[in-house]
Amino acid sequence: AKGRGRNRVRFFNQHMQVEVTERTVLTNRLRQAMEKEELYLAYQPQFDRRQGITGAEVLLRWQHPDHGHYAPADFIPIAEATGLILPIGQWVLQQSCRLLADWAKEPGCQHWQLAVNISPRQLHDAHFVEQLTAILQQTEAPAERLLLEITESQLLEDTELALKHIHQLAAMGIRFALDDFGTGYSSLQYLKTLPLKQLKIDASFVRDLLQDSSDEAIVRTILALGQSLELEVIAEGVETAAQFKALYQIGCRQFQGYYLARPGTLEQLYQHSPSHPG
Ligand code: C2E
Ligand code: CA
Ligand code: CA
Ligand code: CA
Repeated sequence: AKGRGRNRVRFFNQHMQVEVTERTVLTNRLRQAMEKEELYLAYQPQFDRRQGITGAEVLLRWQHPDHGHYAPADFIPIAEATGLILPIGQWVLQQSCRLLADWAKEPGCQHWQLAVNISPRQLHDAHFVEQLTAILQQTEAPAERLLLEITESQLLEDTELALKHIHQLAAMGIRFALDDFGTGYSSLQYLKTLPLKQLKIDASFVRDLLQDSSDEAIVRTILALGQSLELEVIAEGVETAAQFKALYQIGCRQFQGYYLARPGTLEQLYQHSPSHPG
């Protein structure tokens, strides 16, 4: 029994060692990813009631030469823990604003917006407002077309500072969406205090919408909340025609998900727009 115990301890240590090493490798690779131009952006179109395009959500992608693709769920937590999310997030915003400036000159997509995910580290960074202001000036992007996606949980860390930044950016015309809505430590207080434009119904409620009557009740409640607070509501993770139809029937008018379009290249995004010249 003693021997087995020791083996178990050793196995556990080796396992931990592997995890630490993997994390170190990933951190080092991520450090170089930007200068080696391994990061790029995918765009997932968002749609209105007529399945016309309203814009896209920007999603970060990392293609490593040896490993292949790393999933955001694997590398974004590391980027956040190491602070690398600051330069990376800065780059994402720069690319996004450049694109918005291009769109502003194109009749076909003048009204499109770009939704960009903002991590807690960015939102709490002392230079965030200043840096984003500079990006908007440099690129001449229309601030009103930029929709920053934040989550409820990230507001909890230092509510005052986060709220200050959000209000400063909102005063510049930037808009905010509450991502993964309904999954966090939902405080309705935020809906009152935040200058929000949009609620994003989390994909988990859409997934079982047709089977689970409590999910349907939650979706109905979010839609009603949006209506009375004059907020847009978009459903994410719409994967099937049946989900789309059910959402439409209970009053949802904005949609995102594989059923309508997967995240893709700019060229793929433009294929969803008959009026885009490119
Ligand atoms: P999220 O913000 O909730 O983004 C939606 C995720 O759902 C994306 O995963 C998207 O590809 C996926 N998705 C879209 N439609 C469907 C669908 O119909 N079914 C299913 N099953 N999934 C769908 P992705 O690209 O892997 O990103 C995962 C998460 O990583 C994002 O979740 C977001 O939290 C984070 N992330 C992605 N890009 C960025 C970024 O630029 N900055 C930061 N801070 N976080 C990012
Ligand atoms: Ca998002
Ligand atoms: Ca989400
Ligand atoms: Ca999510």
